[in-house]
Amino acid sequence: MNCPFCRRADTRVVDSRTADDGSVIRRRRQCPECGRRFSTVESASLSVLKRSGATEPFSRDKVIAGVRKACQGRPVSGDDLALLAQQVEETVRATGAAQVEADEIGRAILEPLRRLDEIAYLRFASVYSAFTSLEDFEEAIARLRADQADRTGVAAFGVTDSATENEREGSTGPDTGPPGSARLGDAERAEDEAPAH
Ligand SMILES: [Zn+2]
Repeated sequence: MNCPFCRRADTRVVDSRTADDGSVIRRRRQCPECGRRFSTVESASLSVLKRSGATEPFSRDKVIAGVRKACQGRPVSGDDLALLAQQVEETVRATGAAQVEADEIGRAILEPLRRLDEIAYLRFASVYSAFTSLEDFEEAIARLRADQADRTGVAAFGVTDSATENEREGSTGPDTGPPGSARLGDAERAEDEAPAH
């Protein structure tokens, strides 16, 4: 790192400090030539390509700002949002790419938000996935119900049945969510019905 004052090439690190969330390291450096001190900030590069074609650095604050509206009036704390933003960053960084599209950020938000609060998830998904009809909401709700049934391990018969049926009729695009839950619902139902009759 060149000295910004005299341009000497080899400066000495006198102090390193990691930010609280570990995403950046701040270093204090001193130039052995002119003796002046300066700071550098080191972070793993991750930029977001927006729909407009512009790029900007990935920002957890922007993730939180994008989700906050959907969480209005919901029991979601600032800590919850901070954790969600961290999970989103981890997901996006896990791709290994130095640049991601804004859409990918939106997709990475959906799953942790669903676990956090289903109403907030529906609100966010309706905007992000551009829901255009009641059927879009019904599909999303059906998927939530199917997942709930899977999670609790209870084959909540009526709910699971209608949920999987809606899912079959409605699943059209690639954005209709994880299909695993619906298949599991079907399998459970088949097993449950077979010995009963
Ligand atoms: Zn210098």
